[in-house]
Amino acid sequence: MQSIKDKVIVITGASSGIGASAARKLTQLGAKVVLAARREDQLKTLVTEIGENAMYVVTDVAKRTDLDNLIQQAIAKFGHVDVMWNNAGIMPISFFEEGHVDEWDKMIDINIKGVLYGINAVLPHMLQRGEGHILSTSSVGGLKTSPGIGVYSGTKFAVKAIMETLREEVAQTIKVTTIYPGATKSELGHDITSPKIKGLYGNLTNMPKLDEEAIANAVIYAISQPDNITVNEVVVRPLGQT
Ligand code: NDP
Repeated sequence: MQSIKDKVIVITGASSGIGASAARKLTQLGAKVVLAARREDQLKTLVTEIGENAMYVVTDVAKRTDLDNLIQQAIAKFGHVDVMWNNAGIMPISFFEEGHVDEWDKMIDINIKGVLYGINAVLPHMLQRGEGHILSTSSVGGLKTSPGIGVYSGTKFAVKAIMETLREEVAQTIKVTTIYPGATKSELGHDITSPKIKGLYGNLTNMPKLDEEAIANAVIYAISQPDNITVNEVVVRPLGQT
């Protein structure tokens, strides 16, 4: 396995949940992390907790210029970017008949365009260096659909297609990994407004869920492989999730 020490890792969606947990774990292994999200107070607290090996850049991944700025800031502070992890995502799910079109738009902007803008911002830098690793977070919902998650699932299927095509295009130089988490403890879904979904899922507190650390471990597995090995997809479910 390759050491993670001193790797410069940019993480979007780092203000809570999976991204924040991974930031802690990666810095414990010696990585330098650049944390991106919209909530500055959360990011600031996390950087204070981690110390000098962390910095944050307030970033809205739905804005292309924010991603360009994120990569520029990361390079200005740490000199280069080894790993870019497009992890930010939202899940305000609903049934099609409810017509929550504004939420569909937001999921498309954040979950799909956010990944594309992240790739666009970092790719020239990595191609110029002749190395690098791009990860994105899809979901088990990016592998199978179920009623009520159509648009979210569509965005996560899109992440799969985008990442697989990216892999085919840059396979000679850059590692490409898609992470597919199953149900994981986090803030995801706090923005669900659909009464129908709330009615269905609201009392599923006994549903098996992964600790966020399980996804951090998957990322660590992917990024600590030797130079000549690339892990392209990792699916992690809690036992019991179908
Ligand atoms: P959280 O809600 O805890 O984290 C989501 C993160 O995304 C937050 O840091 C949030 O920060 C950030 N974010 C949301 N919108 C934007 C935006 N426009 N610009 C920048 N950052 C944004 O949930 P998770 O940790 O679970 O989610 C992380 C990823 O994992 C998501 O892509 C999600 O779809 C995926 N996933 C999660 C699963 C689960 O069960 N938890 C299962 C499968 C996939 P802020 O609000 O500060 O901007």
